Amino acid sequence: MKIKSKHVSAMSDDSKQLSRRQFLRSSAVAPLGLITAVAYAKQTTVKIEHIDLFAVRYPTKGYFKFFTGPRGAYGRGAVIVKITTDSGSIGWGQSIPSPLWSYETLETATIVLQDYLGPVLIGRDPLDIDGAHEAMERALAPGFSTAMPIARSGLDIALHDLAGKLKGRSLSQMWNRPSGGPLKLSWTVNARTLNEAEKVIDAGYKRGYSNFNIKVAPNPKFDVGLARLVRKRAPDGFLWADANGGYDPATALAVAPKLADAGVDVLEAPLKPNRISGYQALKKQGALPILMDEGVVSPVELTEFIRLGMLDGVAMKPSRCGGLLPAKKQIEIIQDAGLMWLGSGLTDPDISMAAALALYGAFGLTRPVALNGPQFLTADVLTKPLTIANGTAAVPSGPGLGIEVDEGKVAELMKGTTGSKRIEI
Ligand SMILES: [Mg+2]
Repeated sequence: MKIKSKHVSAMSDDSKQLSRRQFLRSSAVAPLGLITAVAYAKQTTVKIEHIDLFAVRYPTKGYFKFFTGPRGAYGRGAVIVKITTDSGSIGWGQSIPSPLWSYETLETATIVLQDYLGPVLIGRDPLDIDGAHEAMERALAPGFSTAMPIARSGLDIALHDLAGKLKGRSLSQMWNRPSGGPLKLSWTVNARTLNEAEKVIDAGYKRGYSNFNIKVAPNPKFDVGLARLVRKRAPDGFLWADANGGYDPATALAVAPKLADAGVDVLEAPLKPNRISGYQALKKQGALPILMDEGVVSPVELTEFIRLGMLDGVAMKPSRCGGLLPAKKQIEIIQDAGLMWLGSGLTDPDISMAAALALYGAFGLTRPVALNGPQFLTADVLTKPLTIANGTAAVPSGPGLGIEVDEGKVAELMKGTTGSKRIEI
């Protein structure tokens, strides 16, 4: 019976109904003891009882082009998500929108979680993460791909944390994979002048980093100079250029061989993701491995983009994909296709960083990871901070995300930064 109830709990509500009907039909001839056991298993199924949301802005240090908000707001916006079951178990997650990176904002993520994606999870089995994604897909219809993936990701991460805590297993254990790590971190060089870049590189070295990712575009001359400077200062490091879709196709084709010549190892997001023929031309040119980031949201378009010959690899980030479940599927697709994947992020604060570390560690990433939260953010909400030293991060161990969130710190951060009130669903 144990196996059967486990199997039932992994299915969606619809299939659960069906299997219950099927069971009732077949149970007409079943012994009484069996029926009692099933009724008991059903009664003890844990349900999601309520969800709390906390809108915050993590304070930052250093210049980074993605942190400005409306009406002078500054900081890394995040909606911290807390899912509570009727048994009192808790899972934490985090949605991390950045309006200068994509169209999702702290305000829209909050309202979408509150009124659309959050309510459809109430009453659900927290172990049924596939079913939760199906319910969220029905609650907010997709555009070209998954709707509001960054908002959705906060719930997905909280569900993974909760499932791990309910099972007493870490994420890698739930995935039947080794935990992996520690992971080398990459230092982000986002500079407006070469002088400023020198200072940023020095600061990275001082913190024990020796691998650098540079922000490039739209000025190819500056970009090649920046690449040369970083390569000179870090002759053996992995040098990764991210244009965030900032070149046009002709400029990208002209600059890619020059960046290669300057010592860049990979070129990420040279174009906006809807420049399909431009990506095909860059891949065909072969000057540098072409990685995509923006625009790869669900596993479906990743498969399509691979078929179309648009990319040599992907810079992964669970938040962009709608969470860990679709991100894990994407890594499997990339590996099956024999392509490259790198670990990246959206300047993830502690909770979403723990999720990304678990995913990248479990899939054996050895290249430096562009998770630059520790470089730019000055606050955390954990009882015990993530283990980060000398440019490396340990993969947290323990059930779920392997972290403990201090709710007092969450409330304080909310009060001190956005002044918002806790939202209860
Ligand atoms: Mg990127």
